[in-house]
Amino acid sequence: MALVNENFLKLEKSYLFADIAKKVNSFKAARPDEKIIRLGIGDVTQPLPLASRMAMHRAVDEMGEKETFRGYGPEQGYPFLIEAIIKNDYAQRGVSLEPDEVFVSDGAKCDTGNIGDILGQDNSIGVTDPVYPVYIDSNVMAGRAGSLEAGRWRGVTYLPCTAENGFVPEIPGRRVDILYLCYPNNPTGTTLSKEQLAKWVNYALENDVVIMYDAAYEAYIRDPEIPHSIYEIEGAKKVAIEFRSFSKTAGFTGVRCGYSIVPKELKGLTADGRQVSLNALWNRRFTTKFNGASYITQRGAEAVYSPEGKKQVRALTDYYMTNAGIMREGLMKCGFDVYGGENAPYIWLKTPGGMSSWEFFDKLLHDVKVVGTPGVGFGPSGEGYLRLTAFGDRDETLEAVERLAGRL
Ligand code: PLP
Repeated sequence: MALVNENFLKLEKSYLFADIAKKVNSFKAARPDEKIIRLGIGDVTQPLPLASRMAMHRAVDEMGEKETFRGYGPEQGYPFLIEAIIKNDYAQRGVSLEPDEVFVSDGAKCDTGNIGDILGQDNSIGVTDPVYPVYIDSNVMAGRAGSLEAGRWRGVTYLPCTAENGFVPEIPGRRVDILYLCYPNNPTGTTLSKEQLAKWVNYALENDVVIMYDAAYEAYIRDPEIPHSIYEIEGAKKVAIEFRSFSKTAGFTGVRCGYSIVPKELKGLTADGRQVSLNALWNRRFTTKFNGASYITQRGAEAVYSPEGKKQVRALTDYYMTNAGIMREGLMKCGFDVYGGENAPYIWLKTPGGMSSWEFFDKLLHDVKVVGTPGVGFGPSGEGYLRLTAFGDRDETLEAVERLAGRL
């Protein structure tokens, strides 16, 4: 019999959303006539921008004609999309990238999960806490996280982000080789200023740390002073890989498209001290294990950067940000301590009266029939918080806030 990767056995089953579903289902069974409003899971609710849809229709038609049919494309993505990404997402912010530093994929979850393939097993890991679980779980699978003790992986350095430190992580006291940062942040909905991000880039430069920078929510930044890309910070190309996604930008959660940037300046070390290009390794991994996002999808993503596409995407993200504003204001009026929701589609709520995340979850479900996500599900420092998403329907968001105002 083949031996299994026993690191997988260390992972607990991901109970968070299953536990939420269980509680919601038993509530529904007991009170079938009650209308539940779900502001828990971070999926989008609004349809695709028209520009992307039209582009995908055209691409489907091209695939139906012998002259324009396309089979396998370049694994790293078609030049038309890579050029649009470089021009719109980077050049306009003063960041120059070469086409072979961009890798188009089927989403940021895969990229952030797969990137560890090109890094040695003995690297130490740092994550902000609370955190998008993929960063930790993928490192557990790779054998970098050690054992789990009292809800914490011994091999992982947790950088708490709480109201007490303004959700800005502090430089870790112990060495990390790889550091995951996600801004705008899921789940806290908070951001880093240029100065705060520069502190991390300088730390990485001084300490030979590789930063995995997840910018899946950059389209929600409204404050012009907040950086959209880590490469807006001088020196970042030497230390950072950046991940982006069309999922939350343009409603592509079901279409699937994202990309990673691996600058050629970024190097890793071999055990005998030789410097190796991480770009070359990622390219090797990509071409070996991935056969490219579909042509149709990439045409849909390209259309996000057309003049109409840009307007439609802005309208889409504005829709969700209006939801965020409605929740923020409504909850603040009710006396809650509310974080996030200004440059991110997540509201991070302090539970009232010292309630635990799950106690507050239960109270919301039973008293106002609103489903959130218990903060503790994202890491130990999430205890005492609850996440609400702005990705709901407007009417439901308004109703949820009204219910909260009336009952809590
Ligand atoms: N990164 C973060 C921080 C996320 O919250 C999510 C999705 O919720 C993703 C990545 C996944 O993005 P994608 O849909 O591109 O895989």
